[in-house]
Amino acid sequence: MTPSSDIAIIGAGIVGLATAWQLLELEPSLRLVVIDKERGVARHQTSHNSGVIHSGIYYTPGSGKAVLCREGVSRMVDFAREQGLAHDICGKLIVATTEEEIPRLRGIQARGIENGLDGLRWLDPTEAREIEPHVQCLAAVHVPQTGIIDYGSVAERLHQLLLAKGVVFRLGESIRSITEQRDGVTIHTEQGEVTCQTLVACTGLWADHVARMAGLTPDVHIVPFRGEYYKLSPKAASLVRHLIYPVPDPAFPFLGVHFTRMIRGGVEAGPNAVLALKREGYHRTDLSLTDTAEILAYPGFRKIAARYWRTGLAEQWRSWNKSAYLRTLQRLIPNLTARDLMPGGSGVRAQALRPDGSLVDDFDFLETERMIHVLNAPSPAATASLAIGDRIARKAIRHFIPAPLPNS
Ligand SMILES: Cc1cc2nc3c(=O)[nH]c(=O)nc-3n(C[C@H](O)[C@H](O)[C@H](O)COP(=O)(O)OP(=O)(O)OC[C@H]3O[C@@H](n4cnc5c(N)ncnc54)[C@H](O)[C@@H]3O)c2cc1C
Repeated sequence: MTPSSDIAIIGAGIVGLATAWQLLELEPSLRLVVIDKERGVARHQTSHNSGVIHSGIYYTPGSGKAVLCREGVSRMVDFAREQGLAHDICGKLIVATTEEEIPRLRGIQARGIENGLDGLRWLDPTEAREIEPHVQCLAAVHVPQTGIIDYGSVAERLHQLLLAKGVVFRLGESIRSITEQRDGVTIHTEQGEVTCQTLVACTGLWADHVARMAGLTPDVHIVPFRGEYYKLSPKAASLVRHLIYPVPDPAFPFLGVHFTRMIRGGVEAGPNAVLALKREGYHRTDLSLTDTAEILAYPGFRKIAARYWRTGLAEQWRSWNKSAYLRTLQRLIPNLTARDLMPGGSGVRAQALRPDGSLVDDFDFLETERMIHVLNAPSPAATASLAIGDRIARKAIRHFIPAPLPNS
């Protein structure tokens, strides 16, 4: 086979784009092609998220999330500075509102210290209100490293820079099938064929499908969880100065509805986490019979549903009932009223689930001789994208550079 490109990347979300960027940092002469089914870059998770630069406080020490998030923060902030992209390391409060959350909050602070975060401060309610005057809590931790950015803009900038470096973008081209051979990979798209020596697939909500298209049998299934936001009215936006998060429920990988000041102005409240009945189902009424049937048929889903049906129903109720959503937010800011909440956007998380019903917590990859499939890249993957991209690039490049690469 004489491949038309050295490395092909499927998926022009922030993980795919960051991988292309890091590949060229390591080896500028590589011929890269990026393929995406949408007509523009970053049309899914990358442009439908909270825009938070996560500090790395929550994650199990030594895990991929902990290591790559910590490294990713500095890479992301350096990139934003170099490129003049708007961002703000404004810090956040994680607040305990019940007695039982206090030991969990202590645990989060201890974890943050283990993960190398400096300057975490334990605050009593008066100290917390010096930072966020309208917050109600029994205790809080201030995390100075957390920031905000627009990941859609980061992705758009990467796109422009990659085009300038000669990367070929095949946008609006869906993948039909993938064939791995001994000496390369052939990708069959709706418009034709792309051949490459190595394939990297960063396809978010479709990661398991794309792996199966390539003849693999991933041991996970992607379950879409929609996160719905409200926007605070301009008057109510003054109730939030920075970011305010609850203590997360350890049983779930999501961080709980929170308040986020957005880099483009305004404050968002959310996101919740409801099962989406369509992989790209951004609206409550979106339904795909194929996607729903697949979810229901998956043994892992049936197990998690049996375990957490009460939580699932409560989330659904909160999704349809504004007063229920408001009550959750009022635990953090009691002065908030229904009139302060205006309809916001939504995003759909790609969350990998195992057949035993456990959610895959860490970033997860499936590799063969010539392919790397990113199977699970949930939050904080946008924060960590440049670090994830670096690790993928180092693996993908092994066919091109025989000598070991220097460590990052
Ligand atoms: C509601 C919500 C809030 C979040 N908040 C944060 C946050 O504050 N901070 C943070 O760090 N992270 C956050 N995240 C997580 C973050 O957004 C994702 O981890 C990250 O964007 C994943 O990037 P990605 O490139 O893997 O996926 P995506 O951005 O989803 O990109 C995947 C791409 O693959 C393409 N694709 C899929 N299938 C095919 C196919 N068959 N053929 C061709 N192309 C295909 C899609 O079109 C898409 O462009 C949040 C996510 C959500 C949903």
